[in-house]
Amino acid sequence: MKNTSGYAAHSPESALEPFQFERRDLGADDVAIDILFCGVCHSDLHTARSEWAGIVYPVVPGHEIIGRVSATGTDVTSFHAGDMVGVGCLVDSCQTCTECADGLEQFCINGATGTYNDPERQTGKPTRGGYSERIVVRDKFVLRIPEGLDPAAAAPLLCAGITTYSPLRHWNVSVGHKVGVVGLGGLGHMAVKLAHAMGAHVVLFTTSPDKRADALRLGADEVVVSKNADEMAKHASSFHFILNTVSARHNLDEYLVLLKRDGVMTLVGAPAEPHPSPTVFALLTNRRSIAGSPIGGIAETQEMLDFCAEKGIASDIEIIPMQQINEAYERMLKGDVRYRFVIDISSLRSD
Ligand SMILES: [Zn+2]
Ligand SMILES: [Zn+2]
Repeated sequence: MKNTSGYAAHSPESALEPFQFERRDLGADDVAIDILFCGVCHSDLHTARSEWAGIVYPVVPGHEIIGRVSATGTDVTSFHAGDMVGVGCLVDSCQTCTECADGLEQFCINGATGTYNDPERQTGKPTRGGYSERIVVRDKFVLRIPEGLDPAAAAPLLCAGITTYSPLRHWNVSVGHKVGVVGLGGLGHMAVKLAHAMGAHVVLFTTSPDKRADALRLGADEVVVSKNADEMAKHASSFHFILNTVSARHNLDEYLVLLKRDGVMTLVGAPAEPHPSPTVFALLTNRRSIAGSPIGGIAETQEMLDFCAEKGIASDIEIIPMQQINEAYERMLKGDVRYRFVIDISSLRSD
């Protein structure tokens, strides 16, 4: 086992601080990775502060991991020492159920293993994430980072990227479609870039008029300030698909009525307080649907990384040293980041 430095939260109220723990020995199908960068996802903060159920302390967050392979187990053939690789929200699943057989490990019937705060199949101990200098991951859950993707800016693709790419693909967004993106945060800014690259006409909905210029720069064709009822009304019954990335409680009807016949609005933000129930008439009209979508499978995550490399897409990031993680959480809560913090893990090694 390898002693590993990281940052952990020890209770819901405490700041993250330096923490030493052990990574498991390399199994036959394991890949050992020296971590270079780790994106800061809102889920990290929810977990560190126990805003979600079942948190086991100390918790080491981080599931937008980029690093280099340092060693491989005896059965690993697809990765070699020195390869640039990524690890997202999942590090394992049963590999035997129908969902795993379909490459949809996020829906594993026997429970996929999250990158942090889940029982590790190999040891039974809690998994610990990317706010750390190294990680050991089963080879099937390691992603190849294509040449040409900036490693730091690629980190958020592993969660924010796949969380928005998967529903855009599942609902077949393509050329000629009018697609709405609600919210311009970590998820929303990726959704705008990806939907634009898929050829859609992209309309960004925001409550902040000062985000208009940025949204257009990122690839939106139009920007609608959602507080402006007249602006909203102009788009009634016109969208094929809306990706709603907002995690604050809000009125879904305001967006539902913008869907054309058979249009779908998919929710990827998880509110702490439930949204008010949508009006059934808003669903009956135009045979509209509301859906939800969590992350994506491993094969689709690789497809997304290859798509991003081909299209020259990555996240807009602000790099921070590990020591600034607590300030970064406070800024993230205020929406004061454009659009994702990424931790430079080399800062941990000099701690
Ligand atoms: Zn995440
Ligand atoms: Zn499974």
